[in-house]
Amino acid sequence: MNKYGDCYYCGGFVREINTSREIWWKGNLYIFEKVPVGVCQQCGEKVLKPKVAKDIDSVLKEKSIPQRIIQVPVYEYEMAAV
Ligand SMILES: [Zn+2]
Repeated sequence: MNKYGDCYYCGGFVREINTSREIWWKGNLYIFEKVPVGVCQQCGEKVLKPKVAKDIDSVLKEKSIPQRIIQVPVYEYEMAAV
């Protein structure tokens, strides 16, 4: 069963994988892991189910407690590149 239907762009087969998504929201970076995303096997186009997009939205809006928090190194190119 193809939950996503054929690719909107090329008609290729869309397979579901779990992947990470980085989302900038109100100036902060949020990472969602194990997000189900449909990926076209032919052109690589990614499809997010409306329910998944909505779930992510409400997690951000409700400021749900994350599973973990990581630190991210930030470099300013001009300062860091020698
Ligand atoms: Zn495609």
